[in-house]
Amino acid sequence: MESAFQVKNNEYHCENVSVKEIVQKVGTPAFIYSQNYFVDRFKELDEAFSYVPHLICYSVKTNSNIAVCKTLSDAGSGFDIVSGGELQRVLKAGVDPQKVVFAGVGKTEDEIELAINTGILFFTVESEPELRLIAQVAERLGKKGPVAIRVNPDVDPQTHKYITTGKAESKFGLDIDRAKQLFNEAKGLSSIDVVGIQMHIGSQITKTSPYVDAIKKMLVWIEDIRTQGIDLKYFDIGGGLGIVYEEEQPATAAEFAEAIRPLIEDLGLTLMMEPGRFIAGNAGVLVSKVIYIKENPTKKFVIVDAAMNDLIRPSLYEAYHEITTVDQNKNGSEMVADIVGPICETGDFFAKARSIPVVEEGELILVKSAGAYGFTMASNYNTRPRAVEVLVNGDKYSVIKERENVDQLIAGEKFPEW
Ligand SMILES: *Cc1c(COP(=O)(O)O)cnc(C)c1O
Repeated sequence: MESAFQVKNNEYHCENVSVKEIVQKVGTPAFIYSQNYFVDRFKELDEAFSYVPHLICYSVKTNSNIAVCKTLSDAGSGFDIVSGGELQRVLKAGVDPQKVVFAGVGKTEDEIELAINTGILFFTVESEPELRLIAQVAERLGKKGPVAIRVNPDVDPQTHKYITTGKAESKFGLDIDRAKQLFNEAKGLSSIDVVGIQMHIGSQITKTSPYVDAIKKMLVWIEDIRTQGIDLKYFDIGGGLGIVYEEEQPATAAEFAEAIRPLIEDLGLTLMMEPGRFIAGNAGVLVSKVIYIKENPTKKFVIVDAAMNDLIRPSLYEAYHEITTVDQNKNGSEMVADIVGPICETGDFFAKARSIPVVEEGELILVKSAGAYGFTMASNYNTRPRAVEVLVNGDKYSVIKERENVDQLIAGEKFPEW
């Protein structure tokens, strides 16, 4: 699929359904996703790596709706989770636990127990105390804890500093010397199965060279670790593949697969990957309604009914999202404005001094590339119920998460006993 969102008859459609028609039914703000886009992106990557045994594990934190997980599971995807909550989501979506890997620096004892009992493929271990806790829990349960150790290859992925994870100063993973010691310790633990090695160097990486550099380093270490008598099965190269938000020119799945092919083809390990944004980013948009147009002597503000609590990436990372109108019948006339939400924070904006088609109060706008790290990072700040989520498939659409209401937000709150 070229793009999940296209202009037909002068207005935006998701696949074959008019965005306006969906929003008339479900209201705004609304996240709208294309089912076929998720599947196509997964298959693009899956096919690019057909030269090597591999398992693509979609990063659940990117967009964790159970309907999205089920869509990808049906297409053959595995899953990369970072919490017990995400494990329960994928189980609810009917995912085979043997296709689930569990990452994150702070797994709790309860989460580890749930994962071992469920029978996941492996934990990605990020510290010495974590390995020891997994060993303890596994022993208590009379089971084995399968682990891959996350190594920090110390390369610069050339992306935003907040989403760089593979540099030496990062909280993630272990430097190679400590990782080697940990592999040795793990080998001696009877309740631990050492099955793999993992890296994840960052996010929104548009070039292949940081992966090539990191994998080259990892290959030397894999050789050393095998020499220590440790029989690895999996080499997990993490996620991070970049997408087009503005004018980036990210490597395609095929270019990426070919760039690392000489390094991994004959390694004798199953290649694992944890893409998130690559699959979900451009599968979705956030649709919002213009509430007011406010004009200061020097500036114009388009105030919309979605806010930073719905999509925090512009506020958090100064991320660029393309913004346009759902109605494209504009004869090319444009205006320059800040597009902002109703939240009482200066940081509540989607774009600043942005040129967009001329809009009026009551009109619908589209914030593009909102399929990844959109709804999953949403909050209830300002007691704003979270948006509705809708999945489109061809000429059908379905609500996959109902809009929250204020009663749900207040439920569980109470006055103190005194
Ligand atoms: C967030 C994350 C991913 C996914 O990253 P993308 O940039 O969305 O591909 C993969 N693996 C791990 C361990 C992560 O934390």
